[in-house]
Amino acid sequence: MNNRAIHLPHDDQDCGWYAALPEPAPAKRLNGQQQVDYAVIGAGFAGLAAARQLAVHQPEARIVLIDAQRVGYGASGRNSGFVIDLPHKMALEHPDPEHKQRLLGLNRAAIAQLQGLVEHHQIDCQWSHAGKYQGAVGPRGLAYLEHFERLMKELGEPFRSVEREELAGVIGTHHYSRAVYTPGCYLMQPAALVRGLAETLPPNVELLEHSPIKGLQRDAQGQWLLQGVDGQVRTPRLLLGTSIFTQEFGYLRSRLLPVMTFASWTRPLTDAEMQATGILPDWGLTPADHAGTTVRMTQDRRLMIRNTYKHVPRYGKSVSDSTRQEIRSGHRRALLARYPHLAHVDFTHTWGGVYAISRNFTNFFGELDDGVYATACDNGVGAAWGTISGTLLADRVVGAHSQRLQDIHAVTGMPSRNPPEPLLGLGVRSRIRLAAWNSRSEL
Ligand SMILES: Cc1cc2nc3c(=O)[nH]c(=O)nc-3n(C[C@H](O)[C@H](O)[C@H](O)COP(=O)(O)OP(=O)(O)OC[C@H]3O[C@@H](n4cnc5c(N)ncnc54)[C@H](O)[C@@H]3O)c2cc1C
Repeated sequence: MNNRAIHLPHDDQDCGWYAALPEPAPAKRLNGQQQVDYAVIGAGFAGLAAARQLAVHQPEARIVLIDAQRVGYGASGRNSGFVIDLPHKMALEHPDPEHKQRLLGLNRAAIAQLQGLVEHHQIDCQWSHAGKYQGAVGPRGLAYLEHFERLMKELGEPFRSVEREELAGVIGTHHYSRAVYTPGCYLMQPAALVRGLAETLPPNVELLEHSPIKGLQRDAQGQWLLQGVDGQVRTPRLLLGTSIFTQEFGYLRSRLLPVMTFASWTRPLTDAEMQATGILPDWGLTPADHAGTTVRMTQDRRLMIRNTYKHVPRYGKSVSDSTRQEIRSGHRRALLARYPHLAHVDFTHTWGGVYAISRNFTNFFGELDDGVYATACDNGVGAAWGTISGTLLADRVVGAHSQRLQDIHAVTGMPSRNPPEPLLGLGVRSRIRLAAWNSRSEL
């Protein structure tokens, strides 16, 4: 690549998960010249896992993990906190049963890995084996739910149908006709989890935050030169855990689609409000129709609503305040449709986050250039996928062999090329609008 101006991440300042944490210690920034054995850019789930695994393989190696923002400020700290074992719908529909079993195995390996780290380092992040409800409001949602149940049967995965009354006894609303409960999902506080993972990295990983990399070049010796604001890193091997921003380094251009989705949450509900609503703490519900609404009740009793997708070609910018206000109003409608008696409870935060999807729903994993490796495009389920793909990317870079590595090679590939703008934007926006319209009863 070159030194052309690149888009840098610039997430909004209103992420509830991040705001609920204490102020972090001051960031260590990239300064001066550094020569390292491995550089990892992006300290989300993927980059954190890659840096940790490199250090496990090579405790003497010098490794830097660099992020433009603070850990937890990017998408990995602003998601809905579902660590999902089951691949999402498109992957579940894959014709090859072995493909699906491999995905399941990889996601479950990620969950086991995160669980081990949370327990070993006592990371305080509301980690919970809560499972997940997939909820349907009307006929459209119910049709999706039936399809999902067929897929679960084919896969041989356990699930349980939960009727309206039983569901209301947990989530405190009769809004849903029915849900399907699957037991393998874990819930967590995402900003707390990634911060905890960063604080417990092995000693030979140096974490540099507030250190945007603005240029990438190859020097005469074939090493990669990472250009920061006040310093440079030279390295023979570079790992990218930069999600959609991977394009900014000149790779996977026109193959990733930047999507933003949004969440709002309330203050913690009081004992009286919990009792009046009949709502229990610590559960998560995703929509049977994926364009619907995700609802979570956290362990500290905040109600979180997530819906709305936007195609964001200028993904280095957060959306305008007026757009966020509009989205918050939509979240409010979704909250009141479910919990009309909580009309007096305002949202305290509304935030968005960006991630990458691809048109053929394929994740990239592997080598992009001589000495440059990446995992990118998790299609929006990056807590588990980022963790396992980052770990295995490190294995791949050091030349380790494992069944899991074979599995991830078998299920990943090249995201397909996008049509040029403005066709792409027009197409994606109209698909998002159509999905939102069709799914309005599930919102
Ligand atoms: C509202 C919302 C809800 C979601 N819910 C879920 C969910 O419940 N479960 C789930 O699994 N997934 C969910 N997702 C998706 C999930 O958050 C992402 O898939 C995941 O965070 C991707 O992880 P990652 O490590 O690959 O990338 P990211 O978390 O995006 O990390 C990339 C990092 O690279 C850094 N970076 C980029 N460019 C540069 C540069 N030039 N220099 C230095 N650093 C750079 C960024 O600052 C960022 O921290 C959700 C996403 C959103 C927005």
